[in-house]
Amino acid sequence: MMSNVADNLQKVQERMAAAAKRAGRNPEEIRLVAVSKTVPPDRVREGIQAGIKILGENYVQEAKKKIEALGHDVAWHFIGHLQTNKAKIAVRLFDLIHSVDSLHLAEELNKAARAEGKVLPILLEVKLSTEKSKFGVEEDNILQLAEGISRMENLMLRGLMTMPPLFPDPEDARPYFIRLRKLSELLASQKFARVLMEELSMGMSNDFEVAIEEGATLVRVGTAIFGPRTSK
Ligand SMILES: *Cc1c(COP(=O)(O)O)cnc(C)c1O
Repeated sequence: MMSNVADNLQKVQERMAAAAKRAGRNPEEIRLVAVSKTVPPDRVREGIQAGIKILGENYVQEAKKKIEALGHDVAWHFIGHLQTNKAKIAVRLFDLIHSVDSLHLAEELNKAARAEGKVLPILLEVKLSTEKSKFGVEEDNILQLAEGISRMENLMLRGLMTMPPLFPDPEDARPYFIRLRKLSELLASQKFARVLMEELSMGMSNDFEVAIEEGATLVRVGTAIFGPRTSK
């Protein structure tokens, strides 16, 4: 039997609150991004009715259709790899982009945001694992990238995002989450204009509790809410 989205959501929210409590954190500091890639709109709607406030999508075209069907009463975050030729449409569709990883992409987003007359909040995706397939800016290039973005008047850098390798034991992801938090502290200490290190986007279905213990403010949870995805 397919489990119910509302029940799943409630369980995830309870586990988030318990992890926050363990870490001595206020649960209200931590927001849930329900990852709805490949999930059909009707099932996403069930989630919205059950209380989801933020949806995370990985593919621009798929997200566009869902946003047209489901509207803007919820916030939509982009968490996938963004191609520069999709910058314009991404700026129109999304409230926060988690996955900026190059100066070129930032420049295109800045241009598009200026044309729309808005200031777009973004996060930098940091590549902390050595897996070849992962996107993200390398640790050594973060300061330079943040400094470049701080000069872009239509972008607001709000924090960092990362995606550790998928470990069977979530404890193995902890050092990656600690590393991201340390990088965020380093960036905050630079006092760049338009750079606020308020958000740490880290933790997925398998490891969001560990991420919360290490300071996550946004956890990106798909499978634990919507069930296993059909492959894309
Ligand atoms: C798919 C995805 C998630 C959610 O993964 P689950 O394991 O299903 O919770 C989170 N973040 C990113 C970047 C993703 O692509």
